[in-house]
Amino acid sequence: MSIQLDFRTLSLTLVLFSLVFGLGMFAYSKEHAKFSGIKTIGAGYLLFGAGGVLLGLRHFIHDFASIVLSNTALIIAVVLIYRGLFQFIGISLRFERWMSPTLVVLLAAAMYFYSFHIPDINLRIQAFSITFAAACFIGAVGLLQHREIHNRLVAKMLIAMFILVGAFFIFRFIWSFYEIPPDDFMNAGFLSALSIIAGEFLVILSSFCTIWMASDELQDELSEIARVDPLTGIYNRRAFDECCDIEFSRALRSGTSFAIIMCDLDHFKKVNDKHGHHIGDEVLRRFAAILQDRIRQHDVVARFGGEEFILLLPNNNTEQGLQVAEQIRAKTAATRITIDGNISVTLSASFGVAHYCAGDSDWSSVLHRADNALYAAKKQGRNRVFDLATANQGLQTDLMPREQT
Ligand code: GH3
Ligand code: MG
Ligand code: MG
Repeated sequence: MSIQLDFRTLSLTLVLFSLVFGLGMFAYSKEHAKFSGIKTIGAGYLLFGAGGVLLGLRHFIHDFASIVLSNTALIIAVVLIYRGLFQFIGISLRFERWMSPTLVVLLAAAMYFYSFHIPDINLRIQAFSITFAAACFIGAVGLLQHREIHNRLVAKMLIAMFILVGAFFIFRFIWSFYEIPPDDFMNAGFLSALSIIAGEFLVILSSFCTIWMASDELQDELSEIARVDPLTGIYNRRAFDECCDIEFSRALRSGTSFAIIMCDLDHFKKVNDKHGHHIGDEVLRRFAAILQDRIRQHDVVARFGGEEFILLLPNNNTEQGLQVAEQIRAKTAATRITIDGNISVTLSASFGVAHYCAGDSDWSSVLHRADNALYAAKKQGRNRVFDLATANQGLQTDLMPREQT
């Protein structure tokens, strides 16, 4: 059984794939302008198609177009595809910037020379194969440079694709030394037909992987949105719960402690009643900024709901938790929040502090103690810090929020 692969038909399918995927990429980038590199990849596919058209028109158009231009277009197409992928992922390679144009110029010169000065099909096949392989290896090396991406399955697929196609063209290059040179490239045999299939493989797989990476990014964005409180921009309760899960496991493993601080703005309803809900919202944002200002790199601050906020302080002993809460309390009480130039609000907050203890079966026990401590702080007059374990409390200043217009 022999497989008949018609060169012209294959060129036609390459054109079809390239056109559909190229235009598809341009349409996709129109709706997802935030992704960079997609248009470059699309331009690469369209150029692949253009190269295929010129290749398929051999004997119908001038040899310069069907040999020199077509082969140069195919190499530029691969360069555009990996450059687009690099752009998309955020890879910048210094050596690629000069190496790719050099490859393109060398190939164009070789194609011209071996078509019009010393016509030689085999040398043209060799020049094209080795250049195409080099371009594919640049693509693979570029992706391997990126530490974060190359562990992901999608990146492994792209790297494997470039290596596989590159290896095929190295094989094509070596094989050409042992085969009888064809009299016409249109009858250059099975391997040349396979070259076109390798090109199609490149177009199909790279576009599939690009869309895969884009959907991954959109999904990451969505899950990040689901973790952030839209009003204050800090974490919400869901994100806080996840952080607590991680911290609790770490505490169990390593025996380190962590603190949870719950805080609630005092008489916040009065701010809303006096100035309106939108001013209340702004006060919540400013209070969130005070909390964020105070925390260390690994601490977590989140909005628990309404005017309640919560902090997770990893690697914290009892004293440190109380100190942090006391500092925030003092800073809040001392801050005069000015909104729209003429509204001035001062407020206070109450804090409940609790620490992880060796007997705790889960972190919600710590949260529960912090909540009870907050309740005690409120009950004892507000604007104070309370820790049930030590019955320790911070300074008490005035009890009501001071609001001035
Ligand atoms: P306490 O000192 O006992 O905590 O008194 P409080 O007034 O702060 O507490 P209360 O539970 O009586 O009222 C909470 C108020 O917080 C009521 C609600 O209107 C306000 N609030 C909750 N969420 C938001 C919000 O997203 N924006 C604004 N502007 N207000 C909110
Ligand atoms: Mg309150
Ligand atoms: Mg409350």
